Amino acid sequence: MLPSRYFAELTQPEIAAQFKKHPLVILPAGSVEQHGPHLPTGTDIFAANVIGHRVAERMDGLVLPGTPLGVTPMHMPFEGTISLTPDTYMRVTIETCATTAQHGAKYLLILNWHEGNIPSLAIAAEALHRQHGMAVITVQACYVAEELYGASCNGLTHGGEIEALAVMAQRPDLVHLDRIEHSSDHTHGHKMDKLRRTRSYQPVLTDIRSIAPSGWFGSPQHATAEKGTRMLADIAQAIATEAAAIFRQLDTVQPGTGATGAPAEIKHLRQVS
Ligand SMILES: [Zn+2]
Repeated sequence: MLPSRYFAELTQPEIAAQFKKHPLVILPAGSVEQHGPHLPTGTDIFAANVIGHRVAERMDGLVLPGTPLGVTPMHMPFEGTISLTPDTYMRVTIETCATTAQHGAKYLLILNWHEGNIPSLAIAAEALHRQHGMAVITVQACYVAEELYGASCNGLTHGGEIEALAVMAQRPDLVHLDRIEHSSDHTHGHKMDKLRRTRSYQPVLTDIRSIAPSGWFGSPQHATAEKGTRMLADIAQAIATEAAAIFRQLDTVQPGTGATGAPAEIKHLRQVS
């Protein structure tokens, strides 16, 4: 029984044994960016980490210590935002996961809660599969949250109830419902979110103020720790179930990755050790 699912909280022998038992790693991906006056700047990476840990418990995996930062030029007009360039973010992602592949990790689940990371993560996921032999799935956990809780939380909005719930379940002290003010107009915000989230057309927006002039909009005042705990459990269960089924399919159609094989480099390392 592992004392933690967080890679950085374990010892070397614990990690070595776990990689032999089930070589699955989960990389939380998020950002550090302004989230209005009521939520911490690390809301996105916080959500990815806590959901990642719950998924790791259900899938018997380890949560990697990825960078808390993401690609978020849209939020740069506001203090509280730190943004990496897509190239830096892609490289950090690839190098973080590729080194675990060298030690025996074969399955990689990238669990993302920040839309600005999606293009860079897609390139990184390709490289981790084609050059490092990992079986890779990326899940946009924020969209899973929207599918499950959008109807009861006034949608997935920047700084809204879904984001408040993700933090509140674990760290209610970081959520300041008493400081909620200046939510931008809901009708305009939803219209703009719809515009940027269609599958066929991807407009490029300069900054968040074109969606929400105050930097955020939504209904976080309805968030409770109890609802947050339920939401995290539901999201983690949905992701664990779906990801396990997809990894099984990948094993079937792509022998040579995942459980059925390892990249040549890993085989070589094992022979010499
Ligand atoms: Zn967010």
